[in-house]
Amino acid sequence: MKIIVQKFGGTSVAGLERMKQVKAKVEKKLKKGYKVVVVLSAMAGETDRLIKLAMEFSKKPDPSEMDVLLTTGEQVSVALFSMLLKDAGIKARSLLGFQIPIHTDKAYGKARILDIDTEKLIELLKTNDVLVVAGFQGCDFQQNLTTLGRGGSDTSAVALAAALNAEICEIYTDVDGVYTTDPNVCSNARKLPKIAYDEMLEMASMGAKVLQIRSVEFAKKYNVPIHVRSTFSDEPGTLVVKEDEVMESVLVSGIAYDKDQARITLTEVYDEPGVAAAIFEPLAAHNIVVDMIVQNPSHEGRTDITFTVSRKEMDDAIKIIDRIKDEIGAKEVLYDKNVAKVSVIGVGMRNHSGVAAIAFRTLKSENINILMISTSEIKISCLIEEKYTELAVRTLHEAFGLDKEPQMESL
Ligand code: ASP
Ligand code: MG
Repeated sequence: MKIIVQKFGGTSVAGLERMKQVKAKVEKKLKKGYKVVVVLSAMAGETDRLIKLAMEFSKKPDPSEMDVLLTTGEQVSVALFSMLLKDAGIKARSLLGFQIPIHTDKAYGKARILDIDTEKLIELLKTNDVLVVAGFQGCDFQQNLTTLGRGGSDTSAVALAAALNAEICEIYTDVDGVYTTDPNVCSNARKLPKIAYDEMLEMASMGAKVLQIRSVEFAKKYNVPIHVRSTFSDEPGTLVVKEDEVMESVLVSGIAYDKDQARITLTEVYDEPGVAAAIFEPLAAHNIVVDMIVQNPSHEGRTDITFTVSRKEMDDAIKIIDRIKDEIGAKEVLYDKNVAKVSVIGVGMRNHSGVAAIAFRTLKSENINILMISTSEIKISCLIEEKYTELAVRTLHEAFGLDKEPQMESL
């Protein structure tokens, strides 16, 4: 049995005309001899509408009832779409998460998929050509309904593709693929034919909001190829695949940026064991995510520690720091919200040196000062003043030749 999973997002299912386009995409695969598992989101705006509605009824909606409410959005989509298919004489049926079942843990609103019963699905695929599955939902082992977090239909689709050993998981959306950078910032941004899972994780976590991050982690773990493409065109989109399937000669795949950054500096704390732990433990206990960290000695026996957090968490972080600052000898607590992070991403830099140097020289060419630097094997991030973000992205994009089709590396 040749199985393909096709996921369609909220804008692709918003109304009859759009659903007809979705139907055409499904029929194309049927003609090629595939059994199709279609995963649908709620119609665009529906999940937001339901959340608002709940807030009118309750200041703090009960999480399990919230999930019962939110799963209705996808239920509407799969029922209506299945009607369309059946009217066209296609053997199809709808399936809600709990009917399969897609088992999750009990974390209402952000549940994780634990296991998918494929037996029933395979049985149903013998008598049906299309199964229309509600995305974003599952149930725990006590049959309580759960949802997977915003954008969770992507993860439903990838998990189903993994469980059914599907040839590919196609994610149809309103953008036509993954770009070298944000096309709104850089008009020369180019659609990438392929991107590695790890690169996609870095791009996604930094504002290229194409796929739910968890779906990419899932795809990487189970080696499910994802094809991100547009519902409204026939052009191929971007394949998200294993690293060794990405062109070897490509050094840098994309430039990402993140304006949700705030910088906090503690000056002249004691330079002795336990000080960093004293700072970052209480932050972690309050679920404040720290991104970049730099420590450098200032005076004799003293050191400055600088780190970044999300802007909306800066005030909370400072409150926590104020409580411990005397204990660790901090002279001052400085902070700045007008910063942004620009990152150069590419698995190609694993095997090459000099990428960081090019990035730094490029920023210098526009006189952009680097406030902090962090690196990983596949990423170089620089914290800069926010007002230079767009300029930095465009200049780096050009410096790494991302506006041109990839050629052999030049290092
Ligand atoms: N409907 C859910 C949301 O809006 C899940 C999804 O669309 O993937 O987040
Ligand atoms: Mg989405």
